[in-house]
Amino acid sequence: MLQVFVAQHPTEAYLVKGLLEIEGVKAFVRGESLFAARGEAPITPDTLPTVWIVDDGDAARAAAILADFGSHPASPSTAAESVACPQCGEMVEPQFATCWNCGHERE
Ligand SMILES: [Zn+2]
Repeated sequence: MLQVFVAQHPTEAYLVKGLLEIEGVKAFVRGESLFAARGEAPITPDTLPTVWIVDDGDAARAAAILADFGSHPASPSTAAESVACPQCGEMVEPQFATCWNCGHERE
């Protein structure tokens, strides 16, 4: 399991989970119950709902999907400018002609 997203509220968490599952990535939400109890607990990053993927092997695809979603990627980057490698799905910044992950060269 791997955390791929920190949502600002449960609706966003389930939106992201849905996006992942549409693409065939098994995902689940944790922490929404903590959010529901926010009257008793302060809102901190620990109490925000998080989205996890079941299979770590889906991490690259999840990153590509979340880069498209774009609002709060798990790893801050210039993902909006990046393009997904057609071979492995890793996000590659446009100034690089070669994928850093698998070595695929863009035309
Ligand atoms: Zn690649």
